[in-house]
Amino acid sequence: MPEIEIPPRVLVVGGTDPTSGAGLFRDVQTLSGLGVYVTGVVAAVTVQTSRSVSDVVALPASVVGAQMDAALEEIGTDVVKTGMLGTLDVVHAVADRVERLGAGARLVIDPVLVASSGRALLAADGVQAMLERLVPRAALVTPNLLEAERLTGIAVRSREDMGRAADVLLAHGASAVLIKGGHLPEFDPELDEIGDLLRTLDGDEFWITRSRRLGPSRRGTGCTLASAIAGGIALGLTLRDAVESARSALDRAWETAPPLGKKAGPLGFVAVAPEKVPAFEKS
Ligand code: PLP
Repeated sequence: MPEIEIPPRVLVVGGTDPTSGAGLFRDVQTLSGLGVYVTGVVAAVTVQTSRSVSDVVALPASVVGAQMDAALEEIGTDVVKTGMLGTLDVVHAVADRVERLGAGARLVIDPVLVASSGRALLAADGVQAMLERLVPRAALVTPNLLEAERLTGIAVRSREDMGRAADVLLAHGASAVLIKGGHLPEFDPELDEIGDLLRTLDGDEFWITRSRRLGPSRRGTGCTLASAIAGGIALGLTLRDAVESARSALDRAWETAPPLGKKAGPLGFVAVAPEKVPAFEKS
């Protein structure tokens, strides 16, 4: 019998969305497409469609923490990726586990604060706790413009503002920040190119740019990008390579989005080129 290696592993903590447009089920789809073993911890259950979020039920923090303990004890992980956390207590429960893991796993934070429909997905006191307890441990934080603004208090309306907001998050102790510029045209309609800014504590800076139109608005772009980055890190890519390949995977998922959904429908699948998937079988 050939010896089978341990696959790259990502533990995702987040909210469920019954349509799989965003949230944990989208994370599982994305990471499975990359050949990563994914463990899933439910922090909240949402009832939503592409039109609205009609209900949100946060799980008790003790149950979220216990799910993490179970997944970590049984499977372990290379990367922890957080999405919707819902409440202050859940932020603390997740931070307790992340602190215990120490250097044993990298942390990717998608600071899910508000749904596209406007519904809050993290309580206001949870935002402060995220800054104080999770951001300092993050290998990467991936806010969009609105999330960057809520986290830093800086109105983020231009590329210069994106740089300023990134610096505030780095000053809170994040190792790297990816500020997603997808909403910039709302503030600057003349813009014909949009870019995401990756800035690191070591002083590196990269802009990942693309032409404005990728097609109609789609759900779950933030979840998909952060999951694909977490997967890339687990697969052993450098942070920059993980971000760049996740961004191109997201663009492909956008181009192949199925004709589903009443409003902004789901993205297509994320798949990795077969040669990029490590061979788990040793001969
Ligand atoms: N619902 C859940 C559970 C999420 O995790 C997220 C985003 O990460 C959203 C909704 C928001 O997604 P969108 O803005 O694409 O609707």
